[in-house]
Amino acid sequence: MNKKVEVCKFGGSSVGTPKNIANALSVICNHEGPLITVVSAMGGVTDRLLTSAIQASQGQLEECKLTCSHMQKRYTEAIEELCKDETEAKKLKQYAEESINEFETICKSLKVLKEHTPRILDAIVARGERFCAMLFCAALKDKGKKAVYVDGTELISLADQYDQLSPDMEACRNLANNKLQPLLENHEVVMVPGFIGRGPIGEVRTLGRGGSDYSATILASSIDAEKVTLYKEVDGLLTADPRFVKDARVVSELHYREATELAYYGAKVLHPRTIIPLIDKKIPLVVKSSFNPSFPGTFISCSTKESQYPVKALTAMQGQALIAVEGKGMIGVPGIAARTFSAMAKANISISFISQSSSEASICFVVPEEQAEPAAKTLKEEFHWELKHHLIEDLHAYKGLAIVAVVGLGMVGAPGIAARTFNAVAEKNVNIIAIAQGSSELNISFAVKEAEVKDTLVALHNEYRLEKLQALPYRSGRSIDLCLYGFGQIGQTLCKQITQQKAYFEDILQIHSKQIAIADRSGMWIEEAGLTSEQLDQAIELKKAKHSLLSAENAQNKFPLTTSFKKLFDLPLHRGIFVDMTADESHETLMEALDQNFHIVLANKKPMAVEQSKFDLMFEKARKKNLHIRYEATVGAGLPILDTIHKLSSAGDEIFSIQGCLSGTLGYIMTAIEDGSTFSEAVRAAYEQGFTEPDPREDLSGMDVARKALILARTLGYRLNIEDIELSPLFRADLSHDNVEKFLENLKEQDDEMQALHKKSLSEKKTLRYLASIEKGRIKVGIESIPDHSPLGRLRGTNNQVTICSRRYKDNPMIVTGPGAGAEVTAAGVLNDIIALALMDE
Ligand code: ASP
Ligand code: MG
Repeated sequence: MNKKVEVCKFGGSSVGTPKNIANALSVICNHEGPLITVVSAMGGVTDRLLTSAIQASQGQLEECKLTCSHMQKRYTEAIEELCKDETEAKKLKQYAEESINEFETICKSLKVLKEHTPRILDAIVARGERFCAMLFCAALKDKGKKAVYVDGTELISLADQYDQLSPDMEACRNLANNKLQPLLENHEVVMVPGFIGRGPIGEVRTLGRGGSDYSATILASSIDAEKVTLYKEVDGLLTADPRFVKDARVVSELHYREATELAYYGAKVLHPRTIIPLIDKKIPLVVKSSFNPSFPGTFISCSTKESQYPVKALTAMQGQALIAVEGKGMIGVPGIAARTFSAMAKANISISFISQSSSEASICFVVPEEQAEPAAKTLKEEFHWELKHHLIEDLHAYKGLAIVAVVGLGMVGAPGIAARTFNAVAEKNVNIIAIAQGSSELNISFAVKEAEVKDTLVALHNEYRLEKLQALPYRSGRSIDLCLYGFGQIGQTLCKQITQQKAYFEDILQIHSKQIAIADRSGMWIEEAGLTSEQLDQAIELKKAKHSLLSAENAQNKFPLTTSFKKLFDLPLHRGIFVDMTADESHETLMEALDQNFHIVLANKKPMAVEQSKFDLMFEKARKKNLHIRYEATVGAGLPILDTIHKLSSAGDEIFSIQGCLSGTLGYIMTAIEDGSTFSEAVRAAYEQGFTEPDPREDLSGMDVARKALILARTLGYRLNIEDIELSPLFRADLSHDNVEKFLENLKEQDDEMQALHKKSLSEKKTLRYLASIEKGRIKVGIESIPDHSPLGRLRGTNNQVTICSRRYKDNPMIVTGPGAGAEVTAAGVLNDIIALALMDE
């Protein structure tokens, strides 16, 4: 039930000014579906309330007075700006005044009593969130939303557990069912002040500083919410504190355990207990900025995938002190550690970190600096006898330390992370004072001097390349990063097609594509954020002017091919697709791209026509890595020939044979002969109209058709090499010549022969075609005489055609026909493959 309820929470800065509140309100108004909203006090209010109360108990009321007028001013301003309805505004102002007056009264009594207890402090600070939630409620109503205030004490029940207040989840669940359920069903936005709950005797208590996060997740678990979103002033959880590491990045995904570890080790963004209520019900948590709500932030769940990053984030807790208990007399003596830590527990000193050397000659542990003196004093009392007899020689507190923690789920079972960590730190000449690794293996933590925190963090951030870890722009799984290898006619046309169809791509298919790299023979232009359409236009202009990509004046982010791959492969990619549109022998490059987790789309036939063993290696690698290789454009350009074959076989059909005209150039020549030209005239006409390769022998040799036939055969599952093809070139070997003009001249010698062939076919009601046929594991490529009324016989000009004969399409074969060459249709074929990859499930 309630699967669609969501909980969101706005932190102190997000509700700090009327402008920020208005911002938060619009986030709430844009939300669809049942919503519980938790708010903190306006930023700074809790701090002021606390200091005022403490000073009052020390006999001073100045701070209290200042806080009263501070609140008065901020509250009035917010009410006037956000609550236009006069009666509501009046009610709210009155509430604010009462709350402030009550606060002043309590402070005055504290001054008399000269003491403050945790319960009184809780009662004082609770007013910060309460007012804020009231304000939100009124402002939402002002905007025409149905909203209702429910106090934290009515929803979160706290019980005493080991001297600590913890939520009684059972009770919370009942409260949620009774209180929240009906309101949500009535489509109300439920406004709840964070941070507070009801204590064992019904009094208001708090969940500890920063506790609104915790309120939100407790409520989410009570009501079985679908998701919790914490809106903060930061974009998410960062790889490191940006004050130390300027390259710090938002971590896009974290496991519950990683997030908990980070919160515990001082990443201030989350209350350390925030995650706990979510675990059982596997409710995901999103941390994002209310000022930048379209940025996805950090997604925290139980199901983050293993990432390529063993380490995801670093934290540093400053202001720590190390206490060392040392002495030869400790060796082999049981009970020293136990006595040390029970003494600490008795003195109520919390320890963040313990490490014992294996020689047993020392135990050291870390406590917050302000606890160092009390800790040392307690220990001196505890070990009075041992100290006197020099069994324990030294009892020292070293202040000014920081604990650095290196956190990541991928460390579990990955050998060498500790070594890498300490090497990286050692290289900066930073001395590690003590080390501890949690048995969870989820973190390695160690103590260094505070002054060396920055160097340490920077070194580790570099070592684990965390600057590459970035929030993915979309979570739909349909973001793709393209590397266009080959930027000739096809590459350029593809870019134009992508740009022209941008709206269709993004709005209908929800595919977000970035061209992160384009390459020609000279080099590669790499833009991590994707080449803009201006940059692509610029590249196309360059090529039009017959320049290479690298020749541009602005050579920033352009690299010679030799170094470019390393650069490219270093980028953090989201579903990278390597598109080969060259005519090179690119096998090695593609293998490398697969190694780097690229999917592959080909317009280039050559890597598909390599020897069988290499071909197998490539497909095997892709299969193992769950990557895809698509190559529709290699045969018949955009015509769905391979796709049709795949579809037939996956529907259980069996293909017996394929016959086809697979060359536009040769098609043109054969039709010209049919129409009365001589052979040499036909070739010359094709050459002059640009239908042939610069060297027409490349077409006439039949090699291009042979490659396509081989690709078809391999798609059918045959294991063959190009040499196995029975290939008859269209021209006689003795007529070949390097010089095109001479070659065209020579071809005249073949005219009579061809004419005779043509005549003979005519008399048999046949016509000449340059055909590829695949049947029973044999491939034949060459000129054939076929019935002039057959589909292939009727094919004209540069069009391509294949006829597929299968068990189901036997008497009447399946035919795929249409233009099979040219930049437009080839690029369209490539684009189709790219789209297919983008739409595939991850
Ligand atoms: N206002 C409280 C604090 O400052 C609780 C919170 O903001 O989460 O600690
Ligand atoms: Mg095709």
